[in-house]
Amino acid sequence: MAEYDKPAPFPDPFVGKPYWDGGKEGKLMLPRCTSCSKTHFYPRSMCPHCGRDTIEWFEASGYGFLHTFAVQHRGVGAWTKEVPYVTAFIDLMEGDRVFTVLRGVDPLKPEEIRIGAKCRIEWDQAGEDTFMPYWRVVEE
Ligand SMILES: [Zn+2]
Repeated sequence: MAEYDKPAPFPDPFVGKPYWDGGKEGKLMLPRCTSCSKTHFYPRSMCPHCGRDTIEWFEASGYGFLHTFAVQHRGVGAWTKEVPYVTAFIDLMEGDRVFTVLRGVDPLKPEEIRIGAKCRIEWDQAGEDTFMPYWRVVEE
């Protein structure tokens, strides 16, 4: 495996720990409020929908749909050599939305990237014990 040379996260050891731990196993763990039943991202100790602290974690499907995207023609640091690349917002199947670098698309043919395309999360090892999430179009 090529060495990961992008900026890596410092996983939150408290509120977001189940999310980062899930990544080590290739799973998407999401927080859900047991009071209003809504899923949210990023992880918080209080539900952003109803304000309660009744948060539970569950293993999500790992699938979502492309909400919108942009082709990046400039990068910083190790991202400089990746241009052009595609950043995107993914609507999680279970609710809420995440930002990502999108894979499985051709940044030189943005007209072929379809809003609503089915996507799946994948995790790159970014450090000894750290994994970084990316999403990939997996049109079926
Ligand atoms: Zn709630």
